[in-house]
Amino acid sequence: MSDRPGPSATLAVDPDEYRAALRAHLAAAPELARFRDRQHVSTETRIAEDAALMSALAGDGGWNLYGWPEKVGGLGGDERHRGILYDELARSGLPVPEPHLLLETLCPAITAFSPHLAARYAPAYLRGQEWWGQCFSEPDAGSDLAALRTRARRDGDHYVVSGQKLWTSHGATARRLVALVRTGSTESRHRGLSMIMIDVDSPGVTARPIALASGDNELAEIFFDDVIVPADRLVGEEGQGWTVAMFLLQYERAMFAWQSAAVALRRLTDLRDLLVARSAPIPDGARRRLGATYLDIVTLRARSSQTVRRLAAGETVGPEASVDKVLLAAAEQGLHDLARDLLGPDFLLSQDPGLRAWRAEWWYSRSATILGGSAEVQRTILADHVLGLPKELAR
Ligand SMILES: Cc1cc2nc3c(=O)[nH]c(=O)nc-3n(C[C@H](O)[C@H](O)[C@H](O)COP(=O)(O)OP(=O)(O)OC[C@H]3O[C@@H](n4cnc5c(N)ncnc54)[C@H](O)[C@@H]3O)c2cc1C
Repeated sequence: MSDRPGPSATLAVDPDEYRAALRAHLAAAPELARFRDRQHVSTETRIAEDAALMSALAGDGGWNLYGWPEKVGGLGGDERHRGILYDELARSGLPVPEPHLLLETLCPAITAFSPHLAARYAPAYLRGQEWWGQCFSEPDAGSDLAALRTRARRDGDHYVVSGQKLWTSHGATARRLVALVRTGSTESRHRGLSMIMIDVDSPGVTARPIALASGDNELAEIFFDDVIVPADRLVGEEGQGWTVAMFLLQYERAMFAWQSAAVALRRLTDLRDLLVARSAPIPDGARRRLGATYLDIVTLRARSSQTVRRLAAGETVGPEASVDKVLLAAAEQGLHDLARDLLGPDFLLSQDPGLRAWRAEWWYSRSATILGGSAEVQRTILADHVLGLPKELAR
């Protein structure tokens, strides 16, 4: 620990003071310099570095512990503090640590439905000592999650889990996996689901990395082969998995949108600086397109800041988080298409690490209309559950 003080307990409850103190800290802390201007590196290296950044932030003033309740190892505050952290990290040229995406997705639901698990494991997560994966999707169950087949059979004081999961972000490096499993009959659809936390080092768990088009091993497929999991690892009650998943998805969509918007704003500035620094002429129409992309990102931020405030006030955002998800996909893909168009052949061919990073991010941005629920599914949720439109007639 350095002598530099973190924000006091009173500062922590005031988001504006937290922001000011955090901004001053990030500008002054020499030990954080090594995390800036990261070159294009493998997923494994990136996550390890991000975990080290989380550890540095937690150890020196507990800066990333604000926004999380004390009972899970945090220092108090709410979603606004977490939003400010992502904003200020991006603003100061530091990465938003990737494990924070799954932290935002999983930790609120586990805290709400199984506080004993959050108390036991979240403190290590917040300090970058471990991170978790989310095992929902399967080969034949993505958009239609209620069709999932991975089964958990109760046997005394534990469950026996068997099945296959697919597209698990960080699945090959995570310490624990939070899986949606079937505990009811095959026909029970969403009523027969439960959520359970599984240690990856349990006998019978196999994680196989999946290389993306960018070459990064971002995702994994996970096989569960008669894995024994203590019954106290259930998140919520048996059969409550769908309720927990719906609670979780509003955080996944809302907080991911805020994180992504913070990073997108930073990357738009980086793109502008890169264009200005190059000797090549700035392409025609670049100013108008940079302006239009800026508008998309601040539109997302305007919407997202309302959503984050609602979560902080304890409101249920539910299906309305799909608005944030739709705006996020448009802003993210627009930004990276803009980079591709304005950087020209360099974008496609250069081996410069900065340009390789833009290329890898472009590939990843394609998934913005897929991960966390596809764009088509988000629009259907909005039509059915927010706008209350009548069902389309079958032709
Ligand atoms: C980068 C990335 C990271 C991911 N991370 C995770 C993770 O950590 N954990 C996890 O569990 N999953 C993860 N996923 C999986 C993701 O949630 C699924 O890919 C997504 O839900 C879509 O499911 P699917 O791939 O099975 O496609 P499908 O459900 O087979 O859909 C195929 C196409 O059909 C369309 N479609 C399907 N149903 C309908 C409908 N009713 N109406 C209109 N159109 C429809 C879809 O929009 C899509 O275009 C990730 C995916 C990506 C790309």
